[in-house]
Amino acid sequence: MFKSFDVPVRCSAGHLFTTIWIPLGSLKAVRLGWKRYQYCPVGRHWAIVTRLDWAGSPSPEELEQAALVHDVRIP
Ligand SMILES: [Zn+2]
Repeated sequence: MFKSFDVPVRCSAGHLFTTIWIPLGSLKAVRLGWKRYQYCPVGRHWAIVTRLDWAGSPSPEELEQAALVHDVRIP
């Protein structure tokens, strides 16, 4: 059921991955409007991440790369 909350994001270091973005609640991240602070599984660091679909129009290459990595699922 979380599938619909999967969104492609980019961290402040430029890493691309997919994460769960629940509109009405934040279980594991600090919300900063359309950006938020969370753990980046690609670079293994904490960073500001931005939704690709909200930050502009992502290229197919970016979406493909983001789809390769998904952060840890909420138990
Ligand atoms: Zn990163």
